[in-house]
Amino acid sequence: MEDDLVTVASYSLFTDADMARIDLEAEGISCRLENENTVVANIAYANAVGGIRIRVRREDEQRARAIVERSARISEKPSFCPECDAGDIELIETRLLFGLLRGHPKRRCRRCGYTWERVGL
Ligand SMILES: [Zn+2]
Repeated sequence: MEDDLVTVASYSLFTDADMARIDLEAEGISCRLENENTVVANIAYANAVGGIRIRVRREDEQRARAIVERSARISEKPSFCPECDAGDIELIETRLLFGLLRGHPKRRCRRCGYTWERVGL
């Protein structure tokens, strides 16, 4: 059945691909990642192999495309502060225990200092 799989998205970062996979599976669409080991092993290969590809069954293609597009938008949003609507946002990562454990990435408004957790991962 390999021939019935179609690529709906490709990513150079494993976390992005994995987030899309989680969203697809949450919607009941089974998918597989291609090239993930190659890309994770060496990011320089990402372009050479066309990134980490997400492949789904042909009959799921339309729905899957809508889901990965939505998922990509969510991962970039919010780009405006929910408190003061400023667009000057920085991404910060909380690090605990000398960087051994990483907390959730957060966003912080440079204008009012409001901090909130990133939607998604
Ligand atoms: Zn703000």
